[in-house]
Amino acid sequence: MKRVYNFSAGPSMLPLPVLEKAQQELLNYQGSGMSVMEISHRSALFTDIIKEAEALLRELMNIPSNYRVLFLQSGASQQFAMVPINLMTGSKVVDFVHTGSWSKKAIAEAKKLGDVRIIASSEDENFTYIPKVEKSMIDPKADYVHITMNNTIEGTVFKEIPDTGDVPLVTDMSSSILSEEIDVSKFGLIYAGAQKNIAPAGLTVVIVRDDLIGHAPADTPAMFNYQTHRDSHSLYNTPPTFAIYMAKLVFEWIKEAGGLSAIETVNREKAAMLYNYIDASKLFTAPVSPESRSLMNVPFVTVDGNKDLEAAFIKQAEAAGLHTLKGHRSVGGMRASIYNAMPIEGVEVLIAFMKKFEQQHT
Ligand code: PMP
Repeated sequence: MKRVYNFSAGPSMLPLPVLEKAQQELLNYQGSGMSVMEISHRSALFTDIIKEAEALLRELMNIPSNYRVLFLQSGASQQFAMVPINLMTGSKVVDFVHTGSWSKKAIAEAKKLGDVRIIASSEDENFTYIPKVEKSMIDPKADYVHITMNNTIEGTVFKEIPDTGDVPLVTDMSSSILSEEIDVSKFGLIYAGAQKNIAPAGLTVVIVRDDLIGHAPADTPAMFNYQTHRDSHSLYNTPPTFAIYMAKLVFEWIKEAGGLSAIETVNREKAAMLYNYIDASKLFTAPVSPESRSLMNVPFVTVDGNKDLEAAFIKQAEAAGLHTLKGHRSVGGMRASIYNAMPIEGVEVLIAFMKKFEQQHT
């Protein structure tokens, strides 16, 4: 069996012990003679899985008791619409921080339902930094403030969570959830597609404060109303059962690794190794300003933007077992996504390969 180091931005690597456990249990889950994929979502076997998944996530993220955890579908992209449907119900004004391609999509959906104010943006510098957000910029009557915590494509992350006072803070945490310790109580709502740090694609996790549920207009379709999913404990319809089972295995793996503080230490180490090398390199450079750099997604380019050399790098890296290093089509260059499941050795092998390539081309 030959596994490669996969630097995909998502779906991305899953921890090997998780894949092995899923393989072991695949044909006969806990003596049932069935796969998790084949059992009813109403069965005791599955309700145990979903309850355990929620309990583990609550424990790992230290989620306060006045927050609900919802296991939904249709990706973070559906949340771009579902958040305004459910939360843009007072002044119908929302304040957005615009930090890249994903915030742009979230803004476009919110605009369909009310007034969007862009209170800060990094568009002037190609989204290579996180703009400062002061409390004074926020409309106290806004229904919520929205930030994209980690910008997967641009490789930036909010190092400080903005203080929004009494205005609920909503965040798209798709590409940084479970990568470091965060204080959930600072947010009104957190949403994340699972396919980076949680599970395979198909599952979306929403963590929402109780008082923000129950305000959607009466004509809101049931599936778009958080209240529906809260009242039925994420079992209103058939949830993505296998992805929820995989999430439970990933949460167990994180717990066994020492929880989020231990995971964060490793993530900081991996990112520091890679940025330190890139910053010292004569061939490669990282476009993101140092104070805004993501621990999860590391974009880099050649110093003189040599497209042919970048293409050769990506091709040769792949032949060396270092996969999916091509940057997003909107920014070009390279991007190494180093989520929780990427072992330190993967980053070491990448750096060794980059050094060798640098020696050959400088
Ligand atoms: N937001 C962010 C920050 C993302 O990285 C992604 C996917 N890469 C999305 C939203 C869209 O997620 P989905 O494909 O789950 O709808």
